[in-house]
Amino acid sequence: MIVLTDVSRTYPGGVAALDSVSLEVRHGELVAIVGPSGSGKSTMLNVVGTLDRPSAGRVEIDGHDVSKLSDNQLSALRATTIGFVFQHFHLAAKVTALDNVADGLIYTGLPLPERRRRAGTALRRVGLGHRVDHEPHELSGGERQRVAIARAVAGDPPLLLADEPTGALDSVSGAGVMDLLHELNGSGTTIVIITHDREIAAGLPRQVSMRDGRIVSDSGSGRGAERLGGGEEGGGRCVREPVESEVA
Ligand code: ADP
Repeated sequence: MIVLTDVSRTYPGGVAALDSVSLEVRHGELVAIVGPSGSGKSTMLNVVGTLDRPSAGRVEIDGHDVSKLSDNQLSALRATTIGFVFQHFHLAAKVTALDNVADGLIYTGLPLPERRRRAGTALRRVGLGHRVDHEPHELSGGERQRVAIARAVAGDPPLLLADEPTGALDSVSGAGVMDLLHELNGSGTTIVIITHDREIAAGLPRQVSMRDGRIVSDSGSGRGAERLGGGEEGGGRCVREPVESEVA
């Protein structure tokens, strides 16, 4: 689903936010990206999500070499293949939950009634069938994040990228959101989650730890830190290992 090969991202001024990162994530995986603030987690997620292009290296998403795609083709790949969930939900204010989700389907070109029908299905899937007419300010934090997740998965993308999805939630709502992400993964969605929460990371089948723009350990590679940057061999195996001390 994701193949990064020697990917670097250098910002103007010379900050190497990503420094020759290689990572393979297979279809159906559920992966935690952990590491201290500034270690390059968000930059990596943005590159994987094709929101940012790398300065060097190769990025392959669902079989597509993204460097070969035009901006329009990239937008199409993003729309059909990748769902995004952010810490602060990013819902439109004064817009109902139903239309927040329906608006996420605009790229489909479907008429509004059909988009609303699909949005209703997605909201029921995340347990919010009774909140479709509520606006964000009438919802709890956990419910807002569920709406954001419904929006992200309404078009059935095979890949979901979540940047600190529980970061703005209390522990009970956060646990509910994690249960939901586990459920979505159980039905086949590949999910990559950035998290600062040690407990959440430990509860996921694979943990990738970053520091200073590099991958310093990857439990999915089977041997932890020995295989720095190389997820190729057994990258998809679900090996439960303790989270490294890199977790902030
Ligand atoms: P994390 O998500 O792990 O906190 P980031 O990927 O946000 O880390 O940042 C990695 C490094 O890149 C940090 O040193 C950060 O200051 C730098 N950085 C991030 N975005 C930019 C930017 N737009 N311009 C310049 N430097 C940036």
